[in-house]
Amino acid sequence: MIALILLMAAANVGQALSLSGPAESRPHVEYEIYAIRYAVIPQFPVAGLVAGEKSDRKLDIAMMVWLIRGGGKNILFDAGFYRPQFFKSWTVQDFARPDEAVAQAGVKPDEITDLVISHAHWDHGDGADLFPKAQIWMQKDEYRYYTADAWQPGGKHGGIDPDDVLMFVRFNLSGRMHLVDGDQEILPGVRVYTGGRHTFASQYVSVPTRSGTVVLASDNMDLYENLEKHAAIAQTFDAASNLKAQDRMKEIAGDPKRIVPGHDPAVMTRYPHVAPRVVRID
Ligand SMILES: [Zn+2]
Repeated sequence: MIALILLMAAANVGQALSLSGPAESRPHVEYEIYAIRYAVIPQFPVAGLVAGEKSDRKLDIAMMVWLIRGGGKNILFDAGFYRPQFFKSWTVQDFARPDEAVAQAGVKPDEITDLVISHAHWDHGDGADLFPKAQIWMQKDEYRYYTADAWQPGGKHGGIDPDDVLMFVRFNLSGRMHLVDGDQEILPGVRVYTGGRHTFASQYVSVPTRSGTVVLASDNMDLYENLEKHAAIAQTFDAASNLKAQDRMKEIAGDPKRIVPGHDPAVMTRYPHVAPRVVRID
């Protein structure tokens, strides 16, 4: 048993070394990225997405997951939702269970190797157990907060479902949960960043592609409008930090066209369709 633990530790050290080595010694991986819209939530108030929006403007928002393929990996960024309670509290249109929607992009659920969860909200984490072989990547502070302090007096757990919290704990108990400590390269070329503060420690991701570095913002930037108006997201622990994160996304991507927002229906029309519900981003 001890020998096994030592072996596993050695393997982890080797992995960490190869990820932190000089850039030129690493194999350069370019990924393909697909946005997959598994549902629509109609007539969502824009004031709930863009800070300072006073109008009663409503938008049919896209509910998406993002598939990242390359270097032998099928990485999913966010997992959508499917548990029945959410269909009681929300009007949901044009729904396909996230694993079935991902299959439309050509990847079976058990072929997903890694699942990066941007934040613990129901519409991003709930579908995680539809992908049985995925290694799960979540911020350590996000995991700790929503499995503990969020449910204590003074804690905030809006948008967090108890079933999902238990699922995250089960991933940890079974050894599939990788808790990430801040900004890190988690897989070759794939980096996560904190500071968006949609939730306690929400993260976004950057991915090298044939057309440059793409930033998948998830709810750290809900709509293109946030970037265009330099307006924070409406639901945030820290609006100033969110604006700084949006500025940083621009630096990382190099071109705002390569920043993909979390719920903007325009994502489905700005990029070419490759299958029903699926557009290619890169
Ligand atoms: Zn969301």
